[in-house]
Formats: sequence, C-alpha cells, structure tokens
Amino acid sequence: MTTAQVPFKTAFPFWQLSLAAPSVSASTQRDMFIFTGSTVLTLCVLILGVFFLIRDVSREKRLSRLRSDFVSAVSHELKTPLTLIRLYGETLLHGGEFKPGERRSFYEIITRESERLTHLIERVLDFSRIDRGQKEYRLQEGDLLPAIARTVEVYGQHLVRRGFSVETELASVLPPLKFDPDAVSQAVLNLMDNAAKYGGESKFIGIRMWNEDNRVMFEVEDHGIGIPVEEHEKIFQQFYRSRSSRGKGGYGLGLFLVRHIMEAHGGRVELDSDPGRGSRFRLLFPVPEGSPGAAGLESPPSASDQNITS
Ligand code: ADP
Repeated sequence: MTTAQVPFKTAFPFWQLSLAAPSVSASTQRDMFIFTGSTVLTLCVLILGVFFLIRDVSREKRLSRLRSDFVSAVSHELKTPLTLIRLYGETLLHGGEFKPGERRSFYEIITRESERLTHLIERVLDFSRIDRGQKEYRLQEGDLLPAIARTVEVYGQHLVRRGFSVETELASVLPPLKFDPDAVSQAVLNLMDNAAKYGGESKFIGIRMWNEDNRVMFEVEDHGIGIPVEEHEKIFQQFYRSRSSRGKGGYGLGLFLVRHIMEAHGGRVELDSDPGRGSRFRLLFPVPEGSPGAAGLESPPSASDQNITS
C-alpha cells in the first residue's frame, strides 16, 4: 500500500494547529508537590531507619561476639594457672624425693600463678563494675611518686628475674595531686605487663616520670612489635585485641581499664607507636592550679634516680 504525505500547511492553509497540556489548577499543583515531597521524605526516613537498624544489629553482633571471645579467653586464662597450682600442689602433697631447690621452685610457681589469678579476677571485677556504672575511685591528695615508684620497683624486679632490662628515670620531686593509689598502680602494672608481653626480642622496658606544663607524665616504652596507626584508637576499646597479639594471653581489658582510670583522674593516656619500632604509652595527670612546683620540668629527666636492670 502506498501513502501520499501532504504537509499540514498545504492541506489546511487557513488553519493553525495548537498543542496544549491539559490545564492544571494551582491547588492540584500544590497537592502534587505535597504528595511528591512527603513520598521523598518517607523514603528518606525509611532508608535512614534501615541504615541505623543494620548498624545497631551489626554493632550488637560484634559486641556479642567480642563478649563470647572474652568469656572463652578468661576461662582459658583461669584454666592455666589453676592447672599448674593443682599439679604442683599435688606433687608436693604426695611427697617423694625432690632434687635440691625443686621444692622451693614448686612453691614459687604456686605463688606466681595465684598472683596471676588474683590479678585476672581483679581486672574482670573492675570491668564489671565499670560496665554497670558502679566503679568508684577514691581520689586523695598526695605524692604520686612513692605510689608509682613502689609498683615500678616490685614489678620491675619481677621482670628482671624473667630476663628483662628495666630502665627507670623518675623525677625526684613532683607536685602533689589527687589520685587513687590502687587504680594508678593498676594502670602502671597493665602498661608494664603489656610492654613485657609485646616487647619482642629486645626485652627492654624504659620507664620515665616527670613534671611538665602543669602535668605529671608517666611513660612506659618498649622496643617490641609496635601498633599500626589504624589500631591506636581501637586498642582502648573493651575486648579489643589485635591480630598480632593472638597466642600471647590476654583478653583485651587492660588498656580499656587504663583509659577509664585516667579519665577518672581528669587526665588521659597517649600512645606513640609504629609496627616494628616499639611503643610508648604515656599517662598524663593534671596538676591542680596553684599547686607548689606545678610548672615543673620542660623535658623528661635525664639522670635516672633509680635503675633496675638485668
Ligand atoms: P590484652 O593485652 O589483654 O590483649 P590490652 O587491653 O592490654 O589487652 O591491650 C589491647 C591490645 O593492644 C593487645 O591485644 C595488643 O594487641 C595491643 N597492645 C597493648 N600494648 C601493646 C604494646 N606495648 N605493644 C604492642 N601492642 C600492644
């Protein structure tokens, strides 16, 4: 079939073709605008709701996985010292022939493992008090130096016996400040314990304390495995343990407690570390305004007042 195409103008020379959209009144336009707006708004709210829901669920899942890892890590940590205590207790109980010094070394193992148990239980109890918002600190004004020096001395001797080289440089005078001696000593212990645990082959632990810009600084340094920058924040979270720390014993609460303790003192904890280069953890205690000797030294002490080395 053939079709002839005749232009409109030729066919109807006196006609005009006008095309117009159906007229929409102002009120219909407003209704459409409201309808579109509310649909977009509802969609946005829905998308946001789904986003927050997914985020909450994955956070809950992560926390519950961390909690279950924590329970199994603590159970494992409890099992080792308990097994050793039972084993050496039974050996001593059943008597028999012992080589010279053997009996004493068994007693030492039992004492060391009981201390480990006490330390572990204290940490878990502290964490549970913090978790329930019931942890209380007893801040009293005094000299931080002897409180810290005692802990450093006792734990330092213990590390030296395990083959570590512990170098300490503690300022001889510090301004008085408010602190909880037990909590501070726990923070110091946790940092020294980590320096030993993650200190690698070098077996070096450096400890410094000085007064600078209205703050008392306490620092623990090791030359061990170090911590990548992307983990600097995470390691202070509850139960967090980095991949490199697997197999080293622990349950990711030490640094969480250290941070909590420092916040309760109005201070903070700082970290300077890189993988393979070692780490420096620094506790900063604020010195109250007007305290004698508040300004203090401008740099860490250069001469060591005390030196525990292997
Ligand atoms: P734990 O040592 O029981 O795992 P912590 O809260 O004390 O728990 O430490 C959290 C994580 O931070 C550790 O698992 C480890 O990966 C890392 N960490 C802590 N201290 C050091 C350190 N001195 N050197 C390297 N890594 C460290």
